Amino acid sequence: MSDAKTYHGQCHCGAVQYDVTTALDSMGECNCSRCRRLGWVLQSAPAAQFTLLSGADNLTEYRFNTEKIEHLFCKTCGVESFARGDDGKGNAMVMINVNCLEPPVAVDRTTIQHWDGANW
Ligand SMILES: [Zn+2]
Repeated sequence: MSDAKTYHGQCHCGAVQYDVTTALDSMGECNCSRCRRLGWVLQSAPAAQFTLLSGADNLTEYRFNTEKIEHLFCKTCGVESFARGDDGKGNAMVMINVNCLEPPVAVDRTTIQHWDGANW
């Protein structure tokens, strides 16, 4: 368990910038058809703890399957630094791409969670 801290995240070209306040205590990898291709590491946080600082007009939305998750990637560099969704109870959430945090955060592969998104 780690305490909540404010982290900065961005896409590759820097058009999309955000701050998020969260503990990185449930980082996971997902095996769904999209996450498998991206190989990203996810951490969820309540949307209220997320602030998009720049790049709102540079985001392209992509939805698939149940279309509940708003996958947002940068029009310029193609990096999905976060996604929007909910927790299944109507509470707005964001999914942070931990690999997009600056400065980089070490990901402990021995404690990472494995989400079976392929079978949701
Ligand atoms: Zn970009």
